[in-house]
Amino acid sequence: MARYIGSECRLCRAENLKLFLKGDRCYSDKCAMDRKPYVPGQHGKLRRQFSEYGNQLREKQKVKRIYGVLEQQFRNYFKKAERKKGITGENLLIFLERRLDNVIYRLGFTSSRNEARQLVRHSHFLVNGKKVNIPSYLIKPGDVIQLRDKSKNISRISEALESVARRGIPQWLELDKANLRGTMKGLPSREDLTMPIQEQLIVGLYSK
Ligand code: SF4
Repeated sequence: MARYIGSECRLCRAENLKLFLKGDRCYSDKCAMDRKPYVPGQHGKLRRQFSEYGNQLREKQKVKRIYGVLEQQFRNYFKKAERKKGITGENLLIFLERRLDNVIYRLGFTSSRNEARQLVRHSHFLVNGKKVNIPSYLIKPGDVIQLRDKSKNISRISEALESVARRGIPQWLELDKANLRGTMKGLPSREDLTMPIQEQLIVGLYSK
């Protein structure tokens, strides 16, 4: 399946939820969810009712969109989550949070996961001193993520770091702003993930 290249705001409106896909714009009065908080299309203002299956499908789509993950990749995370000890739904979300692009976004180096993905692909970051250009690379506790010296003057990174206070850095990560590096202190817990996600619906969908 190809990556979605349409309007990101349309995805938020389809889910009827701010997914924070466009960086600073999401916090401004230009946010489409604030201006047009209804589903796009002719019947968008009508109340939608979904079957149980429909709700499960919507929830999966929502999480895939938040993290920018394609179907096959998402299924692979689910299989890994199932094999791991603990609650499958929580394991799934923790795998997604551990992705390098997500960690860079959470640390505040970028204002969206999309932007983080782009910068990782262009090799702007080191993990434990080594170049990593794979956005899905899984970070583990103790890993250090650092901006490369050659990338320190990228203005959008400094701008993102300036505005990170607005969304805050989760307690499972630590940012050393002066040295442009971050550390994963430990794994996130379910309580750390504040987006309104009902992961049990996704588990229900894949368990059919
Ligand atoms: Fe979603 Fe951000 Fe667009 Fe608002 S500005 S609709 S939060 S992507």
